[in-house]
Amino acid sequence: MLKIRMSSPRIRSRECATGSRVIVIGGGYTGATVAKLLVDRGFRHIEEVAVFEPREHLGSGLAYDTRDADVRLNVAAHRMRAVPGAPSAFADWLQSSGTLSVDPAAITPEGVFACRRDFGRFMQQQLAPLVEAGSVRHIRETVSAVSRLNDRWHVTGAGGTTLMADMLVIATGHPAASTPRALEKLDRRTAMMVRDAMAPDALTGVCRNSDILIIGSGLTALDALSRLKARGHHGKISLLSRSGLLPRPHASDGFTPYGNFEDATLTSARQVLAKVRATISAAGAQGIPWQSVFDALRQQTQTVWQRLPESERRKLLRRLRRWYDVHRYRMPPQVSALLRQGLATGQVETHVGELAAVRLDEQGLVARINTRDDCDTVHRCGHILLATGPDFRDYCAHQKFLLALHRDGFVQSDPLGLGVVCDTAGRTIAVDGSPNSRLFVAGPPARPAFGELTGVPEIAAQAANLVDVVLKTLARRNRTFYIGRQD
Ligand SMILES: Cc1cc2nc3c(=O)[nH]c(=O)nc-3n(C[C@H](O)[C@H](O)[C@H](O)COP(=O)(O)OP(=O)(O)OC[C@H]3O[C@@H](n4cnc5c(N)ncnc54)[C@H](O)[C@@H]3O)c2cc1C
Repeated sequence: MLKIRMSSPRIRSRECATGSRVIVIGGGYTGATVAKLLVDRGFRHIEEVAVFEPREHLGSGLAYDTRDADVRLNVAAHRMRAVPGAPSAFADWLQSSGTLSVDPAAITPEGVFACRRDFGRFMQQQLAPLVEAGSVRHIRETVSAVSRLNDRWHVTGAGGTTLMADMLVIATGHPAASTPRALEKLDRRTAMMVRDAMAPDALTGVCRNSDILIIGSGLTALDALSRLKARGHHGKISLLSRSGLLPRPHASDGFTPYGNFEDATLTSARQVLAKVRATISAAGAQGIPWQSVFDALRQQTQTVWQRLPESERRKLLRRLRRWYDVHRYRMPPQVSALLRQGLATGQVETHVGELAAVRLDEQGLVARINTRDDCDTVHRCGHILLATGPDFRDYCAHQKFLLALHRDGFVQSDPLGLGVVCDTAGRTIAVDGSPNSRLFVAGPPARPAFGELTGVPEIAAQAANLVDVVLKTLARRNRTFYIGRQD
């Protein structure tokens, strides 16, 4: 076959007849955005975009597939920038759909902090017309196996659907949380009192007067606090974490990002920290809140990360991650008010330490906590809520199909525990070190290449870039294919 790469109007008009199929595994915010962009931008090169996603709707995923009105976005609506090319789409939709009129509590001096379920609804409405028109095929199955056959991907769902694809995009998002060792081998009665804080039924059967111990003190823990308070919980709520640090509040709206971190001399974790501190001081001297510095840092983190050698990335994660996270992932103002009130009245407490053991006696759960100074304290409670957040370590081990792809040499978990090894185009890097232009990873598990890839705006930008790379690759392939066929 003669391989010539050239552009010709005659060939272009027939390009999509090659039947290219792109399969996206996972239809949360990331997978849905990738699918939508593939349809919007790729009509000439792609015949079918198929998304494997067991949830009823595309676009919501773990974070936004909730009916709960008590959990809110931690980012102001105008900063969500969820639709590439239409940054104000979500904020506009909140107005035009009447959502803000039924949820006036979303409006705060710090900006509009909408319910997460409403963002889920917004995303569903972005995707539904494409699914109804048949441009995106939603297969409500979990992918259980992927293999490579005759130069194509062979994807099998748990319900038995099998499809072949030219390109595959892994968008499986957040893995499950890890279970602390102390909670691993509980008897059935004790285990019933321990719940995953993110599960929809986490609070079913929890008595309003019961004391609750939440393991974790990040945004997942504060979601649990919001849910408890919304159902009128009277008992004590204790948050236990190794650092004791809580997410910080937002500043009032109206400040713009402040600071430049794209300086090529920032090549160590220590230099990054010093630069952030100096910038916060300079901002403070001008009356600019530290939040503006973190907003600038957030926008530039990918550049900072890409300049650091692996040893410094490791140091950054080990020493500064929690500190970075609490400043970067700030709590919605509504939650901030609840927390302030809870701490002031003594209903909410924070504890520093690690859960060492749990047992059940006649009065409830007895948790042994190992404190920072290596002392043991005993904490009594009625229920434990596990809110340690997703565990990205050895990402490929979380999914059967990824484990198989790893065994076949196609993918590998990154050594820093952030996700799947890939390049900045989203192409996975095989075990032999070569980038694969047929197998992509999108959203949070692509963090090894970016450092920061958790929030919607960063994911939207990565998805747009990845889709362009996929389409260019398909266009090249199609041109080669047709020239070859005409011979
Ligand atoms: C509780 C929570 C709140 C958040 N709040 C915000 C916020 O306010 N603002 C913000 O910017 N960011 C927020 N985030 C960050 C979040 O990372 C992104 O907003 C975004 O939702 C990530 O989407 P995702 O599709 O990559 O992952 P997920 O939401 O985890 O979705 C992954 C999807 O893949 C599917 N899946 C997994 N495995 C398979 C398989 N084998 N086969 C088929 N399907 C599969 C799952 O069913 C799931 O629907 C939040 C995250 C969480 C966890």
